[in-house]
Amino acid sequence: MRQRIAHAAARVGRAPGDIRLIGISKTMPPEAVREAVGAGLLEFGENRVQEAAEKIRALAGCRLRWHLVGHLQSNKARKAAELFAVIHSIDSVELLRRVDAAAAEAGRAPDLLVQVDLAGEATKHGVPESALEPVLAAGREARAARLVGLMLLPPLFDDPGACRPYFRRLRALRDRLAAASGLALPELSMGMSHDFDVAIEEGATMVRVGTAIFGARPWA
Ligand SMILES: *Cc1c(COP(=O)(O)O)cnc(C)c1O
Repeated sequence: MRQRIAHAAARVGRAPGDIRLIGISKTMPPEAVREAVGAGLLEFGENRVQEAAEKIRALAGCRLRWHLVGHLQSNKARKAAELFAVIHSIDSVELLRRVDAAAAEAGRAPDLLVQVDLAGEATKHGVPESALEPVLAAGREARAARLVGLMLLPPLFDDPGACRPYFRRLRALRDRLAAASGLALPELSMGMSHDFDVAIEEGATMVRVGTAIFGARPWA
């Protein structure tokens, strides 16, 4: 895995250390995470708050950094602010404000990313390009949380190269928004098991890799 990251980074002259590998451990038991920790992985991602809470408790001794990559309902914002170092799935002004308020109360300072819907997929969560500006404005006003970038969950294609245009668009969008909003937005969360090499070539700083690390999931 590290070698695939290093090769993809080298192809475009990036330092492999600039790319964070996040092991997506959803549906996997704590023992599987422990095994990955043994192999040197320290950052993990989950898509459900409740499932994550149990795993985080079970692995509390391991000093891991936990990411939420799945949709967050606003009634779970408090719990998410307490549990996660990074939340990738901010998709509304209201959710951002709730997470920030909860983080301030809990004395936490999570990093936040805005999930962007570039494909206009009504079935998925994410903010359409045209509605990003107020979310970024709310990010600028956050007191405890820090808005650090954008996240993309592109449509599923068999061919990993088919996602390249989406990755490229997310990066261009980030560059444009960073210049316009005054936020640095250094992070681009994009790329999963079958296409993270391509995402790295296009500027990903966080890749979310599940099955390529843990094997096939029993359920999704
Ligand atoms: C499950 C999931 C992943 C990992 O997918 P794999 O194809 O198993 O690597 C990445 N991001 C999100 C948001 C996910 O839900």
